[in-house]
Amino acid sequence: MTTGPQVSRQVSRQVSRTLANSDLEQVRTIYIAGAGIAGMTMALSLAKSGIRVVILEQTAQIQTEGAGLQISPNARKILNDLGLDDALKTAGFATKEIDIYPFRRPTPLISLKMGPAMEKAFGAQYMVIHRADLSDVLFSACRKRANIEFQFGVRSFDMQAHQKGLSLTVENKDGSVHNTRPFAFVGADGVHSMTRRKILAGPDAQYSNYIAWRALVPTSLLKDHFNLNNSSLMWGPGFHVIAYPHPTRHVVNIAMFTKEKLSRKLNPQTVTTPSVPKAGLSCKRVKAIINAAEGGWKKWPLYAAKTSQWFKGPVGLIGDAAHAMLPYQAQGAAMAIEDAGVLGPLLAKSTDPQTAFATYQSHRQPRVNKVVKTSASNGNIYHLEWPFSIFRDIVVSAQGPTAHLQRLAWIYGYEVPSVYKTSP
Ligand SMILES: Cc1cc2nc3c(=O)[nH]c(=O)nc-3n(C[C@H](O)[C@H](O)[C@H](O)COP(=O)(O)OP(=O)(O)OC[C@H]3O[C@@H](n4cnc5c(N)ncnc54)[C@H](O)[C@@H]3O)c2cc1C
Repeated sequence: MTTGPQVSRQVSRQVSRTLANSDLEQVRTIYIAGAGIAGMTMALSLAKSGIRVVILEQTAQIQTEGAGLQISPNARKILNDLGLDDALKTAGFATKEIDIYPFRRPTPLISLKMGPAMEKAFGAQYMVIHRADLSDVLFSACRKRANIEFQFGVRSFDMQAHQKGLSLTVENKDGSVHNTRPFAFVGADGVHSMTRRKILAGPDAQYSNYIAWRALVPTSLLKDHFNLNNSSLMWGPGFHVIAYPHPTRHVVNIAMFTKEKLSRKLNPQTVTTPSVPKAGLSCKRVKAIINAAEGGWKKWPLYAAKTSQWFKGPVGLIGDAAHAMLPYQAQGAAMAIEDAGVLGPLLAKSTDPQTAFATYQSHRQPRVNKVVKTSASNGNIYHLEWPFSIFRDIVVSAQGPTAHLQRLAWIYGYEVPSVYKTSP
């Protein structure tokens, strides 16, 4: 037997289910391509404002490929606003300093203040985290939201914007096809984005001439070579190395960066030895890392994506899909998170997605372009050869352990403008 309130609850559930499948989708359902850092942060940012979100992911499950990420306070504050602070504190690690080792130097030239100093200066920690752990934190948070849905195993999508809005067709790997009418579509599908190339007719990603050689090494094998409360940055002629710990996993994340020409597009691949310039092998610490990694390296070609068109009508781009950059300022994921922190509230409150995307693009592009330039310039500085490296070292040493807190305050002190944050 059903009572009056039960009947009305059933009816309202039926109505909302029907609406969810048709009119409501058109009014305020947003589709996102890519369940990466950008896509899941975007979903949380939209869901917080009551928007229904469907994430289309090409793989069968959340991707955990890759190793470590440094997450700076500008990004961390946005993640904290999404309620993730406690989970990130458990999963990540706030390294105290970055020890900088010029070529063959046994002790650090300088130790730049990081975790606690950043928290004091910018209101959030600077942390390092394994990519799989960050994905896990984001995925768990998304799963707790009834208004976020994941569709894995997506083969392709196509769409058409018209006067009545947007018509989207999604084809799955099992052959099924789904047609729908979302309010907007966000391409968070990474550096080789189909949304950028196919839907917005934008450019392919370009190989940057840099390779990242990545490995995870047991902490016990490197504890005598680094201070594992800190991150370490080693500079050498034509290469550099970054190392930081993942204490919960008992490993140290290593990434060595070198230059290399490629004659064809290359996906990340497993290799036994990194091709470090000859001089690198005369450095004890570099040799120790290569030995400790015991052949377990990933050769990771670095691609960059540059386009000034981040949207067209109700379709827009965020994260690497819009602006994949060199990782030499450790800001690719941070910029993706910032994108989501800005675009989420804009799309949630705007009656017209095009206006939201236009505001987002004009606010974000100057900042992201400046970060892209800073990252590229760091690559040149880190790889300087003798005698130029001597001047670099003198300048860095003279600046002292806290100068970067002022010099890079424009990156780390960023706040999403409150005018964009206003709820709908
Ligand atoms: C060596 C290295 C070190 C780095 N270190 C840092 C760092 O310390 N700090 C930092 O902030 N950044 C760092 N970055 C950059 C950072 O990894 C990227 O900027 C970030 O992962 C971008 O996130 P994203 O979600 O835009 O793209 P991705 O992480 O690439 O996610 C894209 C998602 O879209 C999916 N997808 C792709 N195509 C489709 C499709 N057609 N349909 C459906 N789904 C699709 C993919 O499967 C994936 O799940 C580093 C990068 C590298 C290479």
